[in-house]
Amino acid sequence: MKPITPHCPVCHQSSVGTWNQAKDYEYYSTDETYTYYHCTGCDTIFIDPVPVEQLRKIYPANYYSFVNGKGNLVTRIKEWLDRRFLKKILTGITAEKINVLDVGGGTGWILDVLKKADSRISFTQVADIDEQAQAIAEKNGHAYFQGTVEQFETDKRFHLILMLNLIEHVQFPLDVLKKAAQLLEPGGIILIKTPNTDSWDARLFRKSYWGGLHCPRHWTIFSEKSFRIIAAAAGLRIEKLEYTQGAPFWAFSIIAALTRKKIIRTDANHPVIFHWLFAPVSAFFALLDFIRRPFAKTSQLFIRLTRE
Ligand SMILES: [Zn+2]
Repeated sequence: MKPITPHCPVCHQSSVGTWNQAKDYEYYSTDETYTYYHCTGCDTIFIDPVPVEQLRKIYPANYYSFVNGKGNLVTRIKEWLDRRFLKKILTGITAEKINVLDVGGGTGWILDVLKKADSRISFTQVADIDEQAQAIAEKNGHAYFQGTVEQFETDKRFHLILMLNLIEHVQFPLDVLKKAAQLLEPGGIILIKTPNTDSWDARLFRKSYWGGLHCPRHWTIFSEKSFRIIAAAAGLRIEKLEYTQGAPFWAFSIIAALTRKKIIRTDANHPVIFHWLFAPVSAFFALLDFIRRPFAKTSQLFIRLTRE
């Protein structure tokens, strides 16, 4: 049964307006139409009802994070950039031995990169609902918990907790943040990357389809304003909040629009992410976002948090 009034997962108020309706224009995993609401109180955009019963359907076998693109040049450049970036983050941690948790980390490939970047990393843990990823993660030396982070029980505490493109996918984002706060070693860092609704492309593509919705897989989408509210509610302090490039969202938005105008074709067997236009369009907007990042709000937030 449908809830009578959708209520905001961040501030729990029910004064909301419809933001738009969307379908899965990226993977075509279902034919359903989903409604996204905007909370007038805290600026969060959220899906309602949350399609939590459809997980197996809405994450099809060709979903990008299940498909390994190891070894090609783009992957290697990305790995090199990630390693440089993560190395910088790790210099802020003074502990001699570092425990790292990657929430929603899949096979633990980011932990692989981290281990190469800093020899102080002595324990690595993945918490992920994906049962397929466990064997690979364990083979690469990571402890693996199959389930949500809220279900994860351990005596270990972590110096670094990664939640990269995770918080927008979960049903109870506040519970996830509270749990992460609890698992944090004093002085530890939580790193979050998540879409930003307060951006050009979100406004530009709102009426057609904005890729940041990743419909129906993104359930709660923040702006700086709404993220500050949820972080405070979880007892977390924002050390640094910056904007980072949202090139894939531009590409999803544009390719979905071209498909709907019947200029190109994408379907369940040929999802947007595998269309040949995806790479060049992403590259173009990565460059655009790189240029305008110093003075504009791009469509992803990058946030560094500690416990209050
Ligand atoms: Zn709200």
